Amino acid sequence: MKDSYRHKGMRRRLVNQLREKGVTDEAILAAIGAIPRHFFLDKAFEEHAYEDKPFPIGHEQTISQPYTVAYQTNLLHLKPSDKVLEIGTGSGYQAAILAALGAVVYTVERQEGLFLKAKELLKKMGLTTIHCFFSDGTLGLAEHAPFDKILVTAGAKEVPNCLLEQLAIGGILVIPVGNADGQYMMRIQRKDKYQFETETLDAFKFVPFLGGLASRH
Ligand code: SAH
Repeated sequence: MKDSYRHKGMRRRLVNQLREKGVTDEAILAAIGAIPRHFFLDKAFEEHAYEDKPFPIGHEQTISQPYTVAYQTNLLHLKPSDKVLEIGTGSGYQAAILAALGAVVYTVERQEGLFLKAKELLKKMGLTTIHCFFSDGTLGLAEHAPFDKILVTAGAKEVPNCLLEQLAIGGILVIPVGNADGQYMMRIQRKDKYQFETETLDAFKFVPFLGGLASRH
């Protein structure tokens, strides 16, 4: 785990690219500038870590494209020490960005291999406000609910009711909803116990949000 001047330079270029693509939130850009994305990728992809692209992380999953990470993070309207549930830890990169922005993060992953790897890396990086769980995110994380924000980083067929139930009043759920060909980003705000306000935003393509734990392989 080494973060060199060269990596820092590549990160600065990535941040400039994101600005050109319309990311304006300075705190989010600073977090992307601060977190070494190459730590979250296999050695083979190190040279590509600062391209604005998704990459394979094993178990048929991908690390999200930095633009998508910035886009989803922006929709959360994070406040310092917000309690955030992330579904789909994957590499752990998105969780690290949330923690860099001051959130207390609960992140769940259904692939044991990815869970173990991300948990170890985040610990090594000293990101102690991230709590990793090996569990099925379609159930949310009832024992730690309610959450100020919930972020789903896999494409769902529909919005699971239990995620709405685990949202604090005033809380925000960001979730891509659609089918395997593509999803629309949805941002749902809980107004009170029974009322939710839904916005449908841009199109994306995420790996599928699947129920149950993955079998070991
Ligand atoms: N946020 C990740 C992106 C990971 S891709 C990152 O920054 O790298 C989406 C992840 O969601 C995959 O790792 C996949 O295994 C996981 N996933 C899909 N369905 C899930 C579920 N029901 N519960 C928990 N994780 C799930």
